Amino acid sequence: MTPIRRKALEALHADHRPVGAYDLADRISPAGGRRLAPISIYRALDFLVEQGFVHRLSSRNAYVACLHGHGADEVVAFLICEACGGVDEDSSPAMKKAVAAIAQIRQFSPSHQVVEIVGRCEHCRGARS
Ligand SMILES: [Zn+2]
Ligand SMILES: [Zn+2]
Repeated sequence: MTPIRRKALEALHADHRPVGAYDLADRISPAGGRRLAPISIYRALDFLVEQGFVHRLSSRNAYVACLHGHGADEVVAFLICEACGGVDEDSSPAMKKAVAAIAQIRQFSPSHQVVEIVGRCEHCRGARS
């Protein structure tokens, strides 16, 4: 793995919130040095997404490290907290079956299977002001 890919992955693992490509460029560019070119960041992120190390959250145009190491054909549900911005992911055999059934009925061949659920995480639900 190239240094940029490794650093990008480490930076995403260090934060449980989704990180945009430009924000990521700031975080992994050398201190006092030139900021990494966006094209280098996007290439590194594309690689990490392809390999299944990282997920792209379409609705936020941001990236999160994969927490589960599941297969590429898994249907992943993201639980996105609107209060703290935290993201958790989970999957279930029942959800995978249901999505596969819908795709089959529609004769649809999925390439990217992500469910985004927005709401409040366990932590933020408990913290009432
Ligand atoms: Zn994952
Ligand atoms: Zn939260």
